[in-house]
Amino acid sequence: MDNWKTRTKLVHAGTRRSQYGELSEAIYLTQGFVYPSADTAQARFDKLGDDEFIYARYGNPTVAMFEDRIAALEEAEAAFATASGMAAVNGALFALLEAGDHIVAAKALFGSCLFIVENLLPKYGVEVTLVDGTDLNAWEAAMRPNTKVCFFETLSNPTLEVVDIVGVAAIAHKAGAKVVVDNVFATPIFQRALSLGADVVIYSATKHIDGQGRCLGGVVLGEKAFIRGPLEMYLKHTGGALSPFNAWVMLKGLETMDLRVRAQAESALSLAKALEGHNKLARVIYPGLESHAQHALVADQMEAGGTVISLEIKGGKAPAFRVLDALEIILISNNLGDAKSIVTHPATTTHSRLSEAQLAELGIGEGLIRLSIGLEDADDLLADLKQALKSA
Ligand SMILES: *Cc1c(COP(=O)(O)O)cnc(C)c1O
Repeated sequence: MDNWKTRTKLVHAGTRRSQYGELSEAIYLTQGFVYPSADTAQARFDKLGDDEFIYARYGNPTVAMFEDRIAALEEAEAAFATASGMAAVNGALFALLEAGDHIVAAKALFGSCLFIVENLLPKYGVEVTLVDGTDLNAWEAAMRPNTKVCFFETLSNPTLEVVDIVGVAAIAHKAGAKVVVDNVFATPIFQRALSLGADVVIYSATKHIDGQGRCLGGVVLGEKAFIRGPLEMYLKHTGGALSPFNAWVMLKGLETMDLRVRAQAESALSLAKALEGHNKLARVIYPGLESHAQHALVADQMEAGGTVISLEIKGGKAPAFRVLDALEIILISNNLGDAKSIVTHPATTTHSRLSEAQLAELGIGEGLIRLSIGLEDADDLLADLKQALKSA
């Protein structure tokens, strides 16, 4: 299996077949497991074997198939699946940090990630420094003797800024800190954060892994000593377990993820190119465009620019709202990575909790809209965007 290529791993890795030899992976919809003898029960509670289970909060065969499949894709030693992306972020940070430690995080974080870093961690005695993630000097300057974690998302949401994973990892590791990357926007297909130097990688499986808007889920990947050690200890006792049914949806999502994400990124690039210079737009942000401020870094650490484009509509909120309302195929929602193309106005929805000063600092203007490109025909999407932009 180690030399299988991505698509083969995504279809076959981690499969566990029952005595019936089912072709499609089974859903083991059970919270508990029965032991043939009291001795077996005692032995399992004493030391759990590799493919043994005692309770679904600790593990389940369908969940294990999902964990093993995504671990194979990422070439990670181990993975722990969670009920949502936020359970994964929360688990990773709380398992790595304790009172008296310090975390350095990029300012441009998903709203709930920012809440954990800014509001929750300080309540438990963790010191926090937020930096401009694109500035390596800022990371370097923020390091302290008690810095234990550097945490960031790359690509960032919604301005699609890129953090230099190799650069931050060098700074963090010199100071003895771990690098935790939320790799959702880049996807595991286009960016291998672990091989670039991250110690822990997190996904909201709700996004591209499901890819069809059905279930919440998440996963944390990294070294076995961490995943099956402190992370598992934290998550199994605090209850963020992924349900077997949702694990099955994610497992089947992985089978088609490479095909889906590549098709979505191809459409995103062609749309970004077609819209660049449009007279109703102040900016087209897409990491695959040569005009992206960090195009060289994108080329170094990503295989493609991803599935999200951000557009700055000239004139602010009113014309931006008119464009959203005029779109016919592209739906107003806040998921991303979905088969259906989606548009979001971050300043009034996903980022409405931020102050005006924070929004300005992050470059999230009133005219900014975020497009998650789906699996529809790119010509239809371009026609929809062009007709809607007329009302801007
Ligand atoms: C969606 C998202 C999350 C949270 O994931 P949920 O599955 O909604 O809990 C975390 N980080 C990023 C970058 C996301 O896009």
